[in-house]
Amino acid sequence: MLTTLRQIVLEFSQNSELNNALGCMVNHVKKALKTDCCSIYLADYQQQHFLLMASDGLAKTSLGQTCVGFSEGLVGLVGQREEPLNIANAQAHQEYIHAPEVQEDDFNAFLGTPIIHQRKVIGILSIQQKESRFFTQNDEAFLVTLSAQLAGVLASAEIKSLLDHQQNNTQKLAQLQGIAGAPGIALSTIFVCQPQADLAAVSLKKSSDAKRQLLRFEQAVDKTRQDFENLSNKLSNLIDSDSLAIFDVYKQLLDQANLGQEVTEKIVQGWRADSALKLVIEHYIKQFEAIDDSYLQERASDIRDLGTRLLVNLQQQAKEELSLPEQFILLAQDVTASMVAQYQHQGLQGIISLSGSNNSHAAILARSLGLPAIMGVNSAVLSQLHQQQTIIDGYSGELFINPSESLRNEYKYLLSQEKALTDKVLKAVSLPSITRDGRAIELQLNAGLSAGFEHSAQLGALGIGLYRTEIPFMNRHCFPSELEQTQLYRKVLQVFPTHGVTMRTLDVGGDKSLPYFPINEENPFLGWRGIRITLDHPEIFLVQIRAMLRANQGLNNLEIMLPMISSIEEVDESIRLINQAFFELKSELKTDIKADLAKVSSTINPDSADAKAELISAQLTRPKIGIMLEVPSVIFQMEALAKRVDFFSVGSNDLTQYLLAVDRNNSQVANLYDAFHPAVLNALNSIARQADKYLTPISLCGELASEPAGAILLLAMGYDKLSMNGHNVPRIKWVIRHVEFEQTQLILAHVLTLDTTKQVHSYLNEQLESLGLGSFIRAGF
Ligand code: PEP
Ligand code: MG
Repeated sequence: MLTTLRQIVLEFSQNSELNNALGCMVNHVKKALKTDCCSIYLADYQQQHFLLMASDGLAKTSLGQTCVGFSEGLVGLVGQREEPLNIANAQAHQEYIHAPEVQEDDFNAFLGTPIIHQRKVIGILSIQQKESRFFTQNDEAFLVTLSAQLAGVLASAEIKSLLDHQQNNTQKLAQLQGIAGAPGIALSTIFVCQPQADLAAVSLKKSSDAKRQLLRFEQAVDKTRQDFENLSNKLSNLIDSDSLAIFDVYKQLLDQANLGQEVTEKIVQGWRADSALKLVIEHYIKQFEAIDDSYLQERASDIRDLGTRLLVNLQQQAKEELSLPEQFILLAQDVTASMVAQYQHQGLQGIISLSGSNNSHAAILARSLGLPAIMGVNSAVLSQLHQQQTIIDGYSGELFINPSESLRNEYKYLLSQEKALTDKVLKAVSLPSITRDGRAIELQLNAGLSAGFEHSAQLGALGIGLYRTEIPFMNRHCFPSELEQTQLYRKVLQVFPTHGVTMRTLDVGGDKSLPYFPINEENPFLGWRGIRITLDHPEIFLVQIRAMLRANQGLNNLEIMLPMISSIEEVDESIRLINQAFFELKSELKTDIKADLAKVSSTINPDSADAKAELISAQLTRPKIGIMLEVPSVIFQMEALAKRVDFFSVGSNDLTQYLLAVDRNNSQVANLYDAFHPAVLNALNSIARQADKYLTPISLCGELASEPAGAILLLAMGYDKLSMNGHNVPRIKWVIRHVEFEQTQLILAHVLTLDTTKQVHSYLNEQLESLGLGSFIRAGF
């Protein structure tokens, strides 16, 4: 049963043409369940009906013609109820509608299951039988499982088919829905950044130039053969000859008589070289995996390895043919923060990521750069979108492929409104961040994700509330040295010489990885992350702290912040290491100064050398140390924590994720991630109350601070500082300057009585409107 299911889904996803795929699928299901008819209907939400797309059993002439309204017939009933419907005698059912054109008069039994993708019914799969009887529990289980497995693949296949039609000039606008990742609008050309050699991510495509595709494949085979040759030469002294033999096996597999011939045949049938490779390799993997022999099953991984190596070489050619357009929207399966950083000065206008969510670091970086981003588009149409003209709406998460002139004009108008809002708020940039009734709240900058934040000082921020040090660690091949880090941190500290600069120690793990320090975990956000890694690797932590301390010498505006703290022991151990670095550095500095003085003059009095060394080394000061409050456990230990540290800063991005148990990076559950959830707001309020009680300064540096309604609530809760991306500092300052503290406290008091996130949003929207801040609703939510 499982194998049949797997096979049906695999075949479906490998079929490049939707109608064909549906046709094969119904045929296969009919045979597998030994029934008389299998049909599939797809939902058309514009027309509010299900269209019969494929059937093995109903009249062929009705395919693509017969429609069933969403509230009509048995098919409509399955859609409405969103559950399977198993009927022995369909024609006797009160909802049955007689449709002569489908020729189903002979069928009595009916079993229909909805195909549901992201809570939306996208189709109905049904089987019918002449004999009047209920279908078995096994039939029902099979159909339900198949429908669930098909849902995602079918949703992608539908979009792909829509885009195919569009490429054939059938004027139908393709509109995709993702998650609003960063506000803003961009109209530009898509540039697809293909993942490095992932056979699963290759979308099947045909080519009209078989000759060229054959040449590409031959070149890739030659290059791969050469790679094996080099590898086996390199390893010949290091591993035994038995192990080396694997390269000979690989080379044989590449031969025309083996895999090579099959790929060539597929290319001759019209497939692109990478598609042909995918089809052949996946076929072999499936066959090996199905064999009941662990040795042979293992060979599947050899085949995958070989396929991947070939794909690397095929993609290398394709890459060489690609060049970046002057302006573009970046699209990738998984846009990472480092990709955004890489392309930010090369004409990047916006971001589309097929995976990820609105609190992925790529989205946070996009917000800080003022770039619109759409995350979690959840569709496998990567290469098809390359070079397409597109509008992305980072407010709603919509993206429009090849939009009409009128839609473009509409969006151009919205862009002009957005610009007017920016111009308006920029007028408040140099004014203090103070409410109408005189309550001040400091606004600081979140930096580190992007270079060039130096200009942010002009955006009215007073210092840096969060410098994410991990980002400069990302675009490299190894950990930066103490000297490199010192130079970098000094530059950052110098941007705000008269204000505090809070540097967070390395916070990798989760969705931030370093290419030279791979971490592979099932559950990365609950795993080895932030302070857990650096305490396990004091050599990395100490070098970073020493670099920060050195950079701070003479400037004295550094504050050190520890991420992902979940226990008192972590704080004690971190402080112990910071003290160690501080005292070691101080003593090294004194020794160096005395040595330098001795070099200059051999007659210098030792006492005065000591005094001088003491004086200069006094410039090395011990900075304030604070922690991020982002793991819920710390909310219950604030008294003990307050005794140990100088300040708290709430990381609301992670605190929301951990309080709600929603992975911030998972598009599947993005609708559940919301910092306006009553539980999160109550936690934030409790933190502010406790910080006040234990006399510890409190700030918040998560994304909530850059939302107008968020800033209003945090102000009312009593937060001393808010830290946000440079782009939002002027907006939030404008908001703060247009409210009264007393009013915000009334709003907060009411919000804390609400039960649901929905109620919180609608109440806050109303309040923003009545405060005359309605134009921020689009930009804020
Ligand atoms: C947070 O978690 O709110 C935070 C500011 O840190 P990061 O987004 O880098 O995890
Ligand atoms: Mg965090």
